[in-house]
Amino acid sequence: MAPTTVLPNPRVHPRFSGITTFCRYPRLEDVTPENRPVDWAVFGVPFDAGVTYRPGARFGPRAVRDASQYVKRFHMAHGVDVCEVLSLADAGDAPVAPYSCKETLDVVWSWATQLPDPARTRLLAVGGDHSVAYANINATWERRGRPGGGLALLHFDSHLDTVDSVWNEKWGHASPFRRAIEDGLIDPKAMISVGIKGPLNSKADLDFASHHGVTIVTHERWKAEGPRVLRDFVARLSGREAYLSFDIDVVDPAFAPGTGTPCPGGLTSAEAFEAVRACAGASIVGADVVEVLPDRDPAGITALLAAHVVFEILAIDAAARSKGGAKGSPCGQSSPPAR
Ligand code: MN
Ligand code: MN
Repeated sequence: MAPTTVLPNPRVHPRFSGITTFCRYPRLEDVTPENRPVDWAVFGVPFDAGVTYRPGARFGPRAVRDASQYVKRFHMAHGVDVCEVLSLADAGDAPVAPYSCKETLDVVWSWATQLPDPARTRLLAVGGDHSVAYANINATWERRGRPGGGLALLHFDSHLDTVDSVWNEKWGHASPFRRAIEDGLIDPKAMISVGIKGPLNSKADLDFASHHGVTIVTHERWKAEGPRVLRDFVARLSGREAYLSFDIDVVDPAFAPGTGTPCPGGLTSAEAFEAVRACAGASIVGADVVEVLPDRDPAGITALLAAHVVFEILAIDAAARSKGGAKGSPCGQSSPPAR
């Protein structure tokens, strides 16, 4: 029997009840033997000492878990029951060292690298500020057998996050992709950054990425070309393993105000889904959704959006596997897709 995700039946245990895990997936330690190894472990990284502006994203994982109780299992656009095709789990929160970016990245990397079944279980980190992406990229690269040339990167953000250092900090949220490129974890020529916008400190802010051959899709270009620019990029990857990094500040603060470095004039929530769906066909082997700041999030709309972005990312893999004939059998005690 192919692995599936056993969810609480929402008609017996309603979505507003129970102990909170990401999307009500079982805790990793509670996954039944027949559903191991899991395909994706979702985990939190409650860390925000890497920010250049407003702190508070350390409470992001908790808020996204809470908002994710209302994420259901059947993806209409892909026509796939994500929990039927994939075995999913909440691995809890990674350990962090709240006073130190580098120490945090080291402990997160070590913890994530050692999660069970490296060849099979992929990691999706929920931040936390964007500095934590480096740790999960590094852990993913390690778990995938250190692919030479590095992973491809599908990056959604208002910012390039390729600054060398800020206040002498080389591991903050402005720098994760600079470090990942320098360390050979990411191939800049197989990296696309979508949604770049806002005033820069200087034109030179673009230099590192453009000199290394990163495909920069400004929000203006996105408006002109739309999801096709991503579909074409993904097609050119021809199945090469890719990491997807989603900074919620790529979304307009009108839709996602709960974030630390907001940039007006970005994607709508619907466009954010379109953008992630345009990555269908990519071989996504790791991901993160970061920069949710609950204290600036009236009505919890940013956390709710982030929870659904997590689902969109998982759905890409579910859609790919279900097309490939790897479809699992119906899920244990769960009811049919329910409201
Ligand atoms: Mn970022
Ligand atoms: Mn950003």
